[in-house]
Amino acid sequence: MSEPEISSTSDFIRDIIREDQKSGKYDGRVHTRFPPEPNGYLHIGHAKSICLNFSVADEFQGFCNLRFDDTNPIKEEREYVEAIKEDVHWLGFGWDDRLYYASDYYEQFYAYAVQLIQHGKAYVCDLTPDEMRAYRGTLTEPGTDSPWRNRPIEENLELFEKMRAGHFEEGSKTLRAKIDMSSGNLNMRDPVIYRILEAEHHRTGNTWCIYPMYDFAHCISDSIERITHSLCTLEFEDHRPLYDWFLDVLGLYHPQQIEFARLNLSNTVMSKRKLLRLVEEKQVSGWDDPRMPTISGLRRRGYTPESIRAFSERIGVARRESLVDIALLEFCVREDLNKRAPRVMGVLRPLKMVITNYPEDTVEDLKAINNPEDATMGTRKVPFSRVIYVERDDFREDPPKKWFRLAPGREVRLRYAYFITCVDVKKDKETGEVSEIHCTYDPATRGGDSPDGRRVKGTIHWVSASHALDAELRLYDHLFTKEDPEQGDEGSNLTAQLNPYSLERVSSCRVEPSLAGAEPFSRFQFERIGYFSVDPDSTDTKLIFNRTVTLKDSWAKIEKKQQQKSKK
Ligand code: ATP
Ligand code: MG
Repeated sequence: MSEPEISSTSDFIRDIIREDQKSGKYDGRVHTRFPPEPNGYLHIGHAKSICLNFSVADEFQGFCNLRFDDTNPIKEEREYVEAIKEDVHWLGFGWDDRLYYASDYYEQFYAYAVQLIQHGKAYVCDLTPDEMRAYRGTLTEPGTDSPWRNRPIEENLELFEKMRAGHFEEGSKTLRAKIDMSSGNLNMRDPVIYRILEAEHHRTGNTWCIYPMYDFAHCISDSIERITHSLCTLEFEDHRPLYDWFLDVLGLYHPQQIEFARLNLSNTVMSKRKLLRLVEEKQVSGWDDPRMPTISGLRRRGYTPESIRAFSERIGVARRESLVDIALLEFCVREDLNKRAPRVMGVLRPLKMVITNYPEDTVEDLKAINNPEDATMGTRKVPFSRVIYVERDDFREDPPKKWFRLAPGREVRLRYAYFITCVDVKKDKETGEVSEIHCTYDPATRGGDSPDGRRVKGTIHWVSASHALDAELRLYDHLFTKEDPEQGDEGSNLTAQLNPYSLERVSSCRVEPSLAGAEPFSRFQFERIGYFSVDPDSTDTKLIFNRTVTLKDSWAKIEKKQQQKSKK
């Protein structure tokens, strides 16, 4: 795994733009675009591209368009369009009136295709898809010219018009660019630019039965919108000659395509096709399942837009492919939530505790600090009473060495409350399980401070039994156990690679009463347990929290290891 570059303001893309501004290319203008295909929900990889395109535009006083690259009616849907808009907005970027659809340019694409035919640079081809593959050649062998390659221009024009008018069956004809069947670049071997598809488009309905291919539509869309720097991922590097060819042959305004390495993240997959499969096979609850690497999944999980932007900045852009450890993403949200998430107390697996010397009917409101990182967040009152719940894990009847939490005869601090000492243990007669523990408290330690300098090593959290609210806490782990689930032989069977323990639902948790009516998506730190956010399915009668991230920083360890490695 390689170390991410830690620089946002200086990278090879920004360097190119600075040079272009200096030389007066594009009159110093900077105009980028984010061009999603609405065939699925956006993921964290797209977030990298969004942050890059919108931030670059911002930094250089330029503009960034949101353009839907909707040229494949079979896989695209309106639902995705709306979800994508919501995600880009949520990340904190806006496009004002610069919202475009490639489908708005269909007439223009068609007219340009006609121009190519007129220039003798495109022809209608009758090869079937299988034949076309056979004629295409391989990386080591040149392709073979299609028998239809030298059709007269007039015939091509007539056939293309008939293709549009629906005279031919799907798959029976294509329009192809006439470039070079022996080119070392397979993309240049007379690529298809139009195919027949009897499919309804989510915006143009049944107006069209021929649809342009990505390579043809994309460069022209960029040109129409007068994009200056067309930033895309490395897999398009081999398509750049074609991008340039179309614009040059048509004599159109010519943006510069620049490729950067896509984001690959450990323990997950990042292709919309594969994510769609997980959704369709119900391996996850939907595109916004909190385990998904989608922006909507991360949002539901409790990620902040700021943390995702910080992550994008930290990983930077480079031309080298790398695999970023998901621990870095978790680090970024932990760092952000540490600053802003109010602290609360909640008990994951409750164990009843009776404080035997505490008065029966008394309830005290104890002062608790909302965020030790931010004094302006103030304090709140937490009710304390004779019967409370503590974490089952915080008690051991037979403690190991260096156990600083609760055990028979041991004294610990109840956070913001009192020092207590365990004096008795009650067990279930049938199962032998500890059912409740009895403690005494020291009234002199109110607030959790000892007046006589007496020290306790452990501090545990608690909730008052009669005041606590029921809640379900959902604990998440990585969706895939393996760092790179797509690698190796098993990679082809993704389902088998799923982490069977990626979701643990802990019902019957007890949380402090201040959480009544907590807003969906609001975020908290449950002290000592982790950062959590309120699930949108949460109700007043059943609170549901999603664990965004644990408190333990595994990134620090990884970073240290990397530093040691790079020193060697
Ligand atoms: P997927 O491979 O997930 O299906 P895609 O590339 O087909 O993604 P598009 O909707 O075409 O998805 O992508 C929109 C933009 O986002 C493109 O410019 C693409 O280069 C960029 N992008 C997609 N995936 C990543 C990634 N992992 N890292 C950075 N940018 C990405
Ligand atoms: Mg794509």
